[in-house]
Amino acid sequence: EEDRALLERDGAESGADTDGGPLPVVAVVGRPNVGKSTLVNRILGRREAVVEDVPGVTRDRVAYDAEWSGRRFTLVDTGGWEVDATGIHLRVAEQAEVAVELADVVMFVVDATVGATDTDEAVVKLLRRSGKPVVLVANKVDDIRAEADAAMLWSFGLGQPWPVSALHGRGSGDVLDAVLDVLPEVSAAGGAYQRGGPRRVALIGRPNVGKSSMLNKLAGEERVVVDNVAGTTRDPVDEMIELGGRTWRFVDTAGIRRRVHQTRGADFYASLRTQTALEKAEVAIVLIDAEQPIAEQDIRVVQQVIDAGRALVVAYNKWDLLDEERRYYLEREIEKELVQIPWAPRVNVSARTGRHMDKLVPALETALESWDTRVPTGRLNAFLGEVVAAHPHPVRGGKQPRVLFATQASTRPPRFVLFASGFIEAGYRRFIERRLREEFGFEGTPIEVSVRVRE
Ligand code: GDP
Ligand code: GDP
Repeated sequence: EEDRALLERDGAESGADTDGGPLPVVAVVGRPNVGKSTLVNRILGRREAVVEDVPGVTRDRVAYDAEWSGRRFTLVDTGGWEVDATGIHLRVAEQAEVAVELADVVMFVVDATVGATDTDEAVVKLLRRSGKPVVLVANKVDDIRAEADAAMLWSFGLGQPWPVSALHGRGSGDVLDAVLDVLPEVSAAGGAYQRGGPRRVALIGRPNVGKSSMLNKLAGEERVVVDNVAGTTRDPVDEMIELGGRTWRFVDTAGIRRRVHQTRGADFYASLRTQTALEKAEVAIVLIDAEQPIAEQDIRVVQQVIDAGRALVVAYNKWDLLDEERRYYLEREIEKELVQIPWAPRVNVSARTGRHMDKLVPALETALESWDTRVPTGRLNAFLGEVVAAHPHPVRGGKQPRVLFATQASTRPPRFVLFASGFIEAGYRRFIERRLREEFGFEGTPIEVSVRVRE
């Protein structure tokens, strides 16, 4: 019961104001083990609620609604951050970098009992480059004697190190006051954690698939606003487009409209643009040039959407150019290359002629509805009970691990946590995932199933 209560939290779901624009964002970053999660829980005033993921599933950024001295803000917990990170760590490090990019203020947490490490120094460089206000948290200062350790951290050149004991609460009020001092009223960082307001769409795909043509077609006469995100000096990034009776926010359109020269590193920048657009969006339209063979790069873009946990619609563009033969081969390619997304709504469009463009909105709506879905715990467990009784986990080494119960830890996308009596094999987890889709649909959204073993 306690576990359930702890898990009833909504990562991506929290974090924005519907009235006064996006809430300002505070990101908590630092090396693993310096006490970030402890600090976040201290600020939120509750106990640790970290979900143990199965290997291969990274701990993503999690956003919470927080409040201090009557000011509300979005608090973002990140994973660890190691320079020269590889594999799974690299992904977590990227997440932390993105978190900084999308933050208004960064709380940089250092373990004062360890002092400045090379990794910390490298992070400092990155933080300087970001130009974001940084509040330096010298953590694990549990008593007055340890304050001398904190003072050593002046050497970072990030201003005052705030001595804090996240574990015991010492100094946490002062550091939060320091955060509020530099926190803007409204987020200038792009509103990536915003809820409410027009739904945010990323139009993505490899070069020349027709993104810019589609944007023009959609915007047409209908374009109402070119939105300059308050307080930034960047190009206009988002366009508000009226479609199907409601306003949609197409994010990061500057990158589509500006015809980037195909120079060295263009691939890298294209992928970075996709990543940024995805961070800001709730749903992605992945454009694929139906006339061309499905390419590695198309598959990679689809994978980026899944990894980012965003809702997905696939649009096969340039349909006006397809003859019967090409249509035949396209279907074979889709079966072969895009097997991982049988759940994604598909539309066959032509940005040139406007064919089936009206089918995009219903597809987006379906995908977003799935993305937002919450399965009540009772219904989830009733269903899983039947599945597990009919198909128990195979016996391994004389033991039979059991799935005891499950809960939906978050929506957007739906994430489920299974509590089990022993190690659950990946194949069985995938089986459960398939059954969940069969039962609840989830058309247009990735879902995640992780396992927590009860000792
Ligand atoms: P994260 O990896 O940065 O999120 O770090 P955690 O919040 O998981 O903390 C890592 C370890 O440091 C845990 O064992 C915490 O209990 C411990 N810790 C966190 N804050 C403090 C603190 O202020 N004082 C002491 N003594 N230990 C702390
Ligand atoms: P982007 O790089 O993804 O933004 O692609 P563009 O919108 O610039 O389109 C690349 C090329 O494909 C241009 O020459 C467009 O005119 C053409 N194009 C885009 N959509 C269609 C379509 O639906 N049908 C046809 N025949 N050509 C298209």
